[in-house]
Amino acid sequence: MRAVLVTRFGEEPALVEVPDPVCPDDGVVVRVEATGLCRSDWHGWIGHDDSISLPHVPGHELAGTVARVGPDVRGWRVGDRVTTPFVLACGRCSACSRGDGQVCEQQLQPGFTLWGSFAELVALPRADVNLVPIPDGVDADVAAGLGCRVATAYRAVAHVARVEAGETVVVHGCGGVGLSAISVARARGAEVVGIDPSPASRALAERLGATALDPAQGPTVSGADVSIDAFGSAATLAASIACLRPRGRHVQVGLLGGADAWPAVDMGRVVGQELQLLGSHGMAASDYPEVLRLVADGSLRPDLLLRDRIGLAEAPSRLAALGTPGAGAGGVTVVRPDLG
Ligand SMILES: [Zn+2]
Ligand SMILES: [Zn+2]
Repeated sequence: MRAVLVTRFGEEPALVEVPDPVCPDDGVVVRVEATGLCRSDWHGWIGHDDSISLPHVPGHELAGTVARVGPDVRGWRVGDRVTTPFVLACGRCSACSRGDGQVCEQQLQPGFTLWGSFAELVALPRADVNLVPIPDGVDADVAAGLGCRVATAYRAVAHVARVEAGETVVVHGCGGVGLSAISVARARGAEVVGIDPSPASRALAERLGATALDPAQGPTVSGADVSIDAFGSAATLAASIACLRPRGRHVQVGLLGGADAWPAVDMGRVVGQELQLLGSHGMAASDYPEVLRLVADGSLRPDLLLRDRIGLAEAPSRLAALGTPGAGAGGVTVVRPDLG
């Protein structure tokens, strides 16, 4: 099969021929129809994630069709259209028994701990625990985002921050996950402010019902009930904490890597104003039906976030370019092996 192979961290990967993946006994091999390009892929490629060993195939926001099924799999057949959370939960550890597969203690992650979906085929172990069927009428480009950006945003807003109608939510960073968070918060009846340096991202944030601001204007928001760092940097984290009301909730969704991995936090303010600092990481497969219902009935429109579709051949340069400011602006890029 063709796959985008990283052989050195930070060096542009190559599209090469590699052997087809072996089907795990408890898993499936999926023929990739679409896979989202995500800033987490960039963090992995640049070397911020020590769970990755080389050579490596990135890609964790995938949708496709089951091509092979392992002998121990009960619930899936060749031809099923599926997506998956980017965390493949074990189904047995104490986190999993509490229903929290997104923080499974034995988790595997395609595109990080396993070879991912920037390829024609991807092997997914633990199929019965993690695969999610894609409903008719939801196309692969949209479904690819359900495993990471849409699900992550949904969990951050609905389950972790528990946003209620009438609350004010500030979203720092209007890339795929930030824009998805805006949609979810609006669907729950919140007033939303989206902050992003890119005019294209701000335009999209406004289209999704947010008031959009440029961070260059300085700290113009205060008194928010909830604030989400959907970008992941010391600066957006600080801005997020600074804009909260007393007892407000900060949710960290964007990954912080490199020099920002251990950011300074104004803990005096956290204590004195009783702020809550919360983390959010993907979403368990068991929570997908409620998101899929919102997509199916049109309350959530991930299709509005799609900016462009590229083939595998273009993926290496686009992945490397995600480090440049503004590269992820104006919506989501989907990689489709059928486009070359
Ligand atoms: Zn992602
Ligand atoms: Zn587990």
